[in-house]
Amino acid sequence: MNIGTNLEMVYNRIEKAAAVSGRKKEDIKLVAVTKTIDIEIIKQAAELGMTSIGENRVQEIMNKYPQLEKYPLEWHMIGHLQKNKVKYIVDKVKLIHSVDNIALAEEINRRALKKNIIADILVQINVSGEESKYGLHPDSFYGFLEKAGDFKNVHIRGLMTIAPYTDNPEEVRPVFAELKKIFEYAKDEKITGVDMDYLSMGMTGDFTVAIEEGANIVRIGTGLFGRRKQ
Ligand SMILES: *Cc1c(COP(=O)(O)O)cnc(C)c1O
Repeated sequence: MNIGTNLEMVYNRIEKAAAVSGRKKEDIKLVAVTKTIDIEIIKQAAELGMTSIGENRVQEIMNKYPQLEKYPLEWHMIGHLQKNKVKYIVDKVKLIHSVDNIALAEEINRRALKKNIIADILVQINVSGEESKYGLHPDSFYGFLEKAGDFKNVHIRGLMTIAPYTDNPEEVRPVFAELKKIFEYAKDEKITGVDMDYLSMGMTGDFTVAIEEGANIVRIGTGLFGRRKQ
């Protein structure tokens, strides 16, 4: 496994998919998903120019953060976040992708206020309605935006989804298209405290399709670092 080669391959595919939707590769943010990946490997990736990394567990961020302080990294929280752990990461991460209930948004607001920062968040939507997945149901989403939009120390910056796992990404194209529709709708509503800047969708198996459908953040682990140990 060579991260440099993988990175180049991923960027090539991002570029092609971006072109399909009339954009450039610079318009798409690549978040390298480093969950379970060793520090030394992450350092290598950082030295190759990787700037954004995604983690899904608070404890792992806490362990890795001090070890990577020398690197100009932007941390993304992409996994399910429990309210009682918000305080540990709210001032460490650039963007929380996985906010799917109002109590969590409220706690982020409270902790951000204490640290005198504005926390950028995405709202995680469960487009496909899969029972096992976290994420807000599209029907309760508008009410969420109106409430969370009022929180002064939280800034809603867009939407995120995890598509159902599939071997054929064409099968999940409608999921991405649907989230893009919801994204445009929310943008047009111009709700106070809500900006639709980021659409985070697409992982190793489906990121080209996600970009073609409008993603501007993709979260890629396996495609960069190989199969995870755990
Ligand atoms: C693990 C993970 C990814 C990356 O998955 P790969 O298939 O390895 O690219 C993306 N998003 C979330 C939320 C994840 O937990």
